[in-house]
Amino acid sequence: MTASTPPCPPAPRAAKPPLTPAVALGWLHTARFLTTAPRLDLLPALAHPEIAFVGRSNAGKSTCINTLTQQNQLAFASKKPGRTQHINLFSLGKQGVTDAILADLPGYGYAAVPLQDKLRWQQVMANYLITRENLTAIVLLCDPRHGLTELDNILLEVIRPRVEQGLKLLVVLTKADKLTRAQQQQALSVMQLQVGGGVVRLFSATKRQGIDDVATLLWQWAHPETQA
Ligand code: GDP
Repeated sequence: MTASTPPCPPAPRAAKPPLTPAVALGWLHTARFLTTAPRLDLLPALAHPEIAFVGRSNAGKSTCINTLTQQNQLAFASKKPGRTQHINLFSLGKQGVTDAILADLPGYGYAAVPLQDKLRWQQVMANYLITRENLTAIVLLCDPRHGLTELDNILLEVIRPRVEQGLKLLVVLTKADKLTRAQQQQALSVMQLQVGGGVVRLFSATKRQGIDDVATLLWQWAHPETQA
């Protein structure tokens, strides 16, 4: 009599690599220019999660994007003549395989811009934020020494219905190195009250504060299927 062979145990599932800041930053470092357009209807319709960076001019948006992607010139390309009122898209994804899009929307409120151009740009932005189908998250850059401007508040009103439906919102308080620790905590709590449905984080490119935290959040928002 031969002993019956015990059934094979099921093969263990491949373990997911743990999400570390290095993974998130490595992913952000893959950012490469995709396209630019002066209006939403001239942008390609895309299916990948899209993360849009917005904020008043001089808020520190370009520095934040360059710091997160570890590319010195990436977002400054959006400040080149001809692109200052364009939606600029960058692909993200390892091995050249795009799995998300970073959208850089040039800053608003710059005093020297003629009124007509300002109004046109506000309309383009509102249209993009309200109707861009694959938009998954908005990162609003704010210098906490100035707080939310009138245009920031209008933008928050415009996106509120989408945030209530699940669009992610992150307010990044830039240049945190300019504040004392007590001022930082104060700015955090004030902003948290002002943007109820959003996440608020302190950030300093100079002091390298908040970089890991913001990178990890963005990675998680762009890869919701791996969160289970
Ligand atoms: P943008 O117009 O929103 O793209 O702003 P920039 O990224 O061009 O930054 C505006 C100014 O703020 C520049 O002079 C930057 O050097 C400065 N800045 C940006 N981030 C920081 C930061 O984390 N700390 C400090 N101290 N200055 C910053």
